[in-house]
Parts: sequence; structure tokens; C-alpha cells
Amino acid sequence: MNYKKNHFFIENISSEKIAEKFATPIYCYSYKILKTNIKNFKRNFKTIKPTICFAVKSNTNLNLLREIKKFGLGADVVSMGEMMIAKKAGISSKKIVFSGVGKTKKEINYAIEKNILLINAESKSEIILIEKIAKYKKKKVNIGIRLNPNTNPKTLDQISTGKKENKFGVSENTFLELVNYIKNSSYLNLKCLSVHIGSQILSHKPYEKMLKVLDKIIKKSNHNFEFLDLGGGMGIPYENKFKKLNYKKYSSAINRLLKKHKSKIIFEPGRSIVGNAGFLITKVLYIKEAQNKSFVILDAGMNDMMRPALYGVKHKIVPSIKSKNYSKKTYEFVGPICETTDKFSTLSKFQKLNENDIIIICDTGAYGVSLSSNYNVRPKPPELLIKGSKINVIKRREKLEDLI
Ligand SMILES: *Cc1c(COP(=O)(O)O)cnc(C)c1O
Repeated sequence: MNYKKNHFFIENISSEKIAEKFATPIYCYSYKILKTNIKNFKRNFKTIKPTICFAVKSNTNLNLLREIKKFGLGADVVSMGEMMIAKKAGISSKKIVFSGVGKTKKEINYAIEKNILLINAESKSEIILIEKIAKYKKKKVNIGIRLNPNTNPKTLDQISTGKKENKFGVSENTFLELVNYIKNSSYLNLKCLSVHIGSQILSHKPYEKMLKVLDKIIKKSNHNFEFLDLGGGMGIPYENKFKKLNYKKYSSAINRLLKKHKSKIIFEPGRSIVGNAGFLITKVLYIKEAQNKSFVILDAGMNDMMRPALYGVKHKIVPSIKSKNYSKKTYEFVGPICETTDKFSTLSKFQKLNENDIIIICDTGAYGVSLSSNYNVRPKPPELLIKGSKINVIKRREKLEDLI
């Protein structure tokens, strides 16, 4: 992959150089990978010409969002804070959609004031509240209803959102009831049917199933939806054993649906846009021998990158300088946090490591910094955007003074 003469590079900068200059742990993004992902996403759905609303929760860095905006993407937001960041990044309200099961009155007020493209409502009570606020403001508000299509996305249970036992969206019956309710409202404009069945989806089949449910319910509702918001969820191969999502098949299935129902498509991808563009560079603090393994204790922990601790998932771990010297013992890569789940991976046949070596945790561009915390009163790492030989500090390292 990114090795030049056995040294790991992010674009034209070596990982050791970054570690030396900026200290560790540190997040780096490759502009080139980001750009390629956006270009590929557009190309994969070329025949559909979708509105692409980047899922801001996957990466909330303002400067990165500014770059994403330059490619014409909008934003999918799930809080007032995310909406404000999207606006600050220069994203037009006409390209902002607002999702989430627990929008507050204040958040709905803000969204209506900003005239965003859509509020995707997730319950009857929410719709009644939106209507009340719209009436008070004497405005007609564009909304979508999020359907729970009861489709198993075949991903981790913790990131499934479209099964009937999940809190997201409304059932088919409620959906149809709400369509009728909104049709009779003077303050609501039903523009969209939205779905998002989960994240890190690697098979096109759940999407095909979801589209079948949509076909059925659109017919039943007898409503002309200007938009079908299909959410995001496109997975990336975190481990070599994973297969890539077949975009061609997903795209064809959407085209079949569009032959029957004339609507514009919205996507809300997060992970597939930024996931593999991010790298977390970290240093080996200590190597501690145990009975059948060695603990490789890193200076990055679960507070910096929570996915493994939260979902039990693995990220590729690679050395900054490759050698042919293999360790006989299994390595368990752990962080310094006082939690047993603060563990990144257990790998046998890794190359022999020494204390102070630099290693890279890959594919940390999505749900890396955005899920990070100050647990154990640890300042969050800085973020760099690397463009060729240029390094841009797009977020400085937090200082202890910021926290204390
Ligand atoms: C999280 C989320 C997304 C993005 O999911 P990815 O798997 O990162 O593409 C899109 N839409 C909604 C409503 C979400 O909650």
C-alpha cells in the first residue's frame, strides 16, 4: 500500500516525520484519498445524479467539511451543532437534511429558520411539534418521514438501524397514517421518504430488499415524493478479508425503482467518503511481556479512537518502517486507558517491535475523532490534512489547560 522503500507515507510525507514534528497520537487525512472517494461515489451513481449529503457525524472537522463542500456535497446533520458547523463550512441550506430520533424544539426552530432542504421526522409526536412550530412561524415546512423498512442490513447489531426492533423511523402502518395526516396540514409539505438501514454495509442485497419495501409503500401511500432519501451506510473493507460493496448492483436496483416512481435521490454517505482517508499515527510506549503474548502499549487509546472498544471491530495496524524481522510472540495492541476494552487488535506474525516505534492505525477517517472523548482527562489529538507535500494543521492538539 503506502510504502516507499519500506517507509509508510501519507501522500508525500512519511509517518515518522509527522510523528517527529507533531508528536503522537495524531490523526492525518489524505486529501487525495478524500477526493478519489468523492469522485468514485459520484461515478458509481452517475446515472442517478443524486444529491449527496455528507453525514457530518462521521467527521465533524470544519476544515475537512470545507474541502468536502468544494466538491458540491451537502450535509446530513443530526444535531444543531452539526447544522451550525455545516453552515459555517459554507454549505447551503438547500443542501442540508436533518435526521435524528430526538430533535429538540430549539433544534427544530433553528432548522426552520435556516430553511433547510428537509427535516426527516422519525415519529408522529415530532411531526406534530414541527407543525406547531411552523404554524407559530406562519411557514410551510418541507419534511420527510423516515421509514423503518424492517430490513436486516447484515452488519453489526450495534450499527443496524432499519430493523423493527431499532428505535429509528416509523413502521409501514404509521408511515401511511402520517402521510394522510401531513396531506391535510397547511403547515407541512411532505417532500420526502427517507430510510437509513444501518452502517458498514458490504452487501447490495439488504439495499435491494429495502428498495422493494419502498416500492410497495410508495404505491400504497399514493403520494408523489419529490425526494427519496436512501441514507448512507456504504461499507469499506477495514480488513483484507472483507469484500467491497457492489455499487453497480445497488445503482441498478435504484434505477429500476426510479422507472416506476419519478423522484430525486438523496444519499447520506459518511464512512465511504472519509473512512479510508484517515490514519491515526501512534507510538509504542512500552512492550510488556505476558505469558503467551506481549502487550504493545500505545499512546493512543479508546478515548482517541473508540470503534474497537465500542463495537469490537478491528482496524488494520501497520508499522511506520517495515522490516523482515517477525515477532515470535503474539502482539496485543492496547491503549493506556483504564478499561479492559481499550484494545485495538491481537495479531500474530507481526514484525518485531521496539519501544518508541511508530505504528499506524488505518481507516480512521470516519467515526475516529468524531467519537473521541476526553476520558481519563486526555487532550484530543490534532488533525492534519495532507495534500501532496503540504501539511495543513486543521485542528490543533488540545491542551491540558483546555480541560482543567
Ligand atoms: C450515520 C448516518 C448516516 C451515515 O452512515 P455511514 O455508514 O457513515 O454512511 C447517514 N444517515 C443517517 C440518518 C445516519 O444516522
